[in-house]
Amino acid sequence: MKYIDEFNDPQLARRLLDEIRATVTRPWALMEVCGGQTHSIIRHGIDQLLPEEVELIHGPGCPVCVTPLEVIDKALEIASRPEVIFCSFGDMLRVPGTGRDLFRVKGEGGDVRVVYSPLDALDLARKNPGRQVVFFAIGFETTAPANAMAVHQARRLGLDNFSLLVSHVRVPPAIEAIMTAPGCRVQGFLAAGHVCSVMGTAEYPELAEKHRVPIVVTGFEPLDILEGIRRAVRQLERGEHRVDNAYARAVREQGNPAAQRMIEEVFEVADRNWRGIGPIPASGWRLADAYRAYDAAHRFDVTGIRTEEPAICRAGEVLQGMIKPTECAAFGTTCTPRTPLGATMVSSEGACAAYYLYRRMNGQAPHSAPAPTGTPGPQGSRLPQEEMNPVG
Ligand code: SF4
Repeated sequence: MKYIDEFNDPQLARRLLDEIRATVTRPWALMEVCGGQTHSIIRHGIDQLLPEEVELIHGPGCPVCVTPLEVIDKALEIASRPEVIFCSFGDMLRVPGTGRDLFRVKGEGGDVRVVYSPLDALDLARKNPGRQVVFFAIGFETTAPANAMAVHQARRLGLDNFSLLVSHVRVPPAIEAIMTAPGCRVQGFLAAGHVCSVMGTAEYPELAEKHRVPIVVTGFEPLDILEGIRRAVRQLERGEHRVDNAYARAVREQGNPAAQRMIEEVFEVADRNWRGIGPIPASGWRLADAYRAYDAAHRFDVTGIRTEEPAICRAGEVLQGMIKPTECAAFGTTCTPRTPLGATMVSSEGACAAYYLYRRMNGQAPHSAPAPTGTPGPQGSRLPQEEMNPVG
């Protein structure tokens, strides 16, 4: 497939690995920001192919995982109402709230539907004027333009039975929070290429300068990731710390101005709570005053929510790169994709799900389990086979 096959080429992967080996002289710790990159790294065994001096730390870039528990519980409450058609991407259905998830609500009679776009939900609102249609608008900068567009269209069409339950997060404030956290070991970042394709790279030079870390905009195929690592290691070895775009086929410095204008029209920057991490200033978006009528949290006035996280779940530490999923006592035993205790085990971008799906089991055999929703099943990697570590 064009733009996929050529970025999985084993010969080129071997060459990039050789270059990384030839460049590195001492230990470096890099964080891949996005959960999609984490899945690609674990699926292809990239972390196991690297020289031992290069450590990859998995970052918090899984929007499903960082959606606060109180927002999940609000979604469960709203979805239970008889007048509501609650629409969501499939990932969210198994994310545990306090005591239940959206699948359970659906099983109990709630009208919960999986959609592939917020515009599908908008269409449902047009076809069901007697029902309230709510779309669960989560995600990083990547999904924000389409969600903004849906609300913009709803207002233009005069649809007053459509609303968003918003839980958007922004990457740059998360990088700032990671770098200022006590005990941070991160020395360089592989920034999320898809986020930069929307927002551009203008927000990153200040972060790179302030924290003296290279930030390399990186894609998602194996060669993209190896190239991102190669460039980050080269900067570190030279004592450099700048923004570098290793995903030029998708990212321009200015990003996508039309998408940015749509975000600015509909959303405004707000402080946000990150599940397992806590509050991060200016790290989210909420609906701007002009669109507040489309905010499901206001429309349904959900109050009195009491949240309770399972005490055993260490997803917060996983999301901050402080532990690997296999260091959690519940991993692969009481916590599996079929019985998730935390969102990181169920999201298609969650690190725990990646380790389970691709059999990083620390010697345990995984139970038979479905792939996390929206995740392709394990497929044969085309990276150099003799160098792959067949885990599990
Ligand atoms: S394995 Fe399960 S319980 Fe442990 S951190 Fe991951 S999601 Fe939480």
